Amino acid sequence: MYSLSYRRASSVEEARRLFKEASDAAYLAGGHTLLPAMKQRLAAHDVLVDLGAIADMKGIGVSGDGLTIGGGVTHAEVAGSQEVKGAIPSLAALAGSIGDAQVRHRGTLGGSIANNDPAADYPAAALALAATIRTDGREIAADDFFTALYETALEEGEIVTGVSFRIPETAGYAKFRNPASRYPMAGVFVARHKDGTVRVAVTGAGNEGVFRWSEAEQALSGNFAAEALAGLSVDPDMMMGDIHGSPEYRANLVAVMARRALGSLGSAEAII
Ligand SMILES: Cc1cc2nc3c(=O)[nH]c(=O)nc-3n(C[C@H](O)[C@H](O)[C@H](O)COP(=O)(O)OP(=O)(O)OC[C@H]3O[C@@H](n4cnc5c(N)ncnc54)[C@H](O)[C@@H]3O)c2cc1C
Repeated sequence: MYSLSYRRASSVEEARRLFKEASDAAYLAGGHTLLPAMKQRLAAHDVLVDLGAIADMKGIGVSGDGLTIGGGVTHAEVAGSQEVKGAIPSLAALAGSIGDAQVRHRGTLGGSIANNDPAADYPAAALALAATIRTDGREIAADDFFTALYETALEEGEIVTGVSFRIPETAGYAKFRNPASRYPMAGVFVARHKDGTVRVAVTGAGNEGVFRWSEAEQALSGNFAAEALAGLSVDPDMMMGDIHGSPEYRANLVAVMARRALGSLGSAEAII
């Protein structure tokens, strides 16, 4: 047993102050990653600063070409949001495919993005939708945000207050779930943007975490259809290998999921 303090912040400023006052604090959002890690003694903190009561981190709104979702919004709220379904149906589909009902009702967008689990779903959407990560001090392009496994560009104590996704012309998401954990073993988000650019992002498979598949982006720029990907594959040397699947297996899954994602364009139901 070890003791710790629980503090609930009512504003982003208060959360920052409470974090700074402690010697080794952590922010608590849905707790679906942080609390199991603490229970297993993989992490230990003297203060948990709960972000769950911060109203400024809750909203969902469309403005111009952007859909902004607060860092404290749960996956279930994203999945059920009419605004999200209207602007980017495949993002609602992605959120609705995360874990199970308990995970979706506690886990948050900010927690998922900040944690950058190599098998998390949202990082793929953030890259493919050219998102901007909003923090309490700055804006960070998704391309610069996910730096390594479980690593991000966030500085000590920085808070993800929201994420602005660029609304595409069309997009789709498909993933192959690990049947035990329900995390994707390979998840591919494809998007064609209104300026004609194509972005393809892969999660769950890469040995350095989420990545953009540039060869697929080039192929789909000419023809945004599954047949454009014929014969294209990712390098197995870039893929994770573990008891659940070899690098070659994951490389094959990436190609299959990319084709399936193209078959799900505009759908609010993820292909799983
Ligand atoms: C059984 C199970 C199955 C799951 N399946 C999936 C899945 O299929 N796909 C998937 O993508 N995810 C999955 N998850 C993860 C889940 O979706 C959560 O998103 C994830 O655990 C982190 O979000 P959280 O809100 O719970 O964050 P927490 O666990 O509270 O925090 C995670 C980390 O982020 C930090 N943090 C939290 N919020 C912020 C913020 N706003 N700003 C800065 N730092 C912050 C915390 O300090 C901590 O270090 C699963 C989890 C479980 C337990």
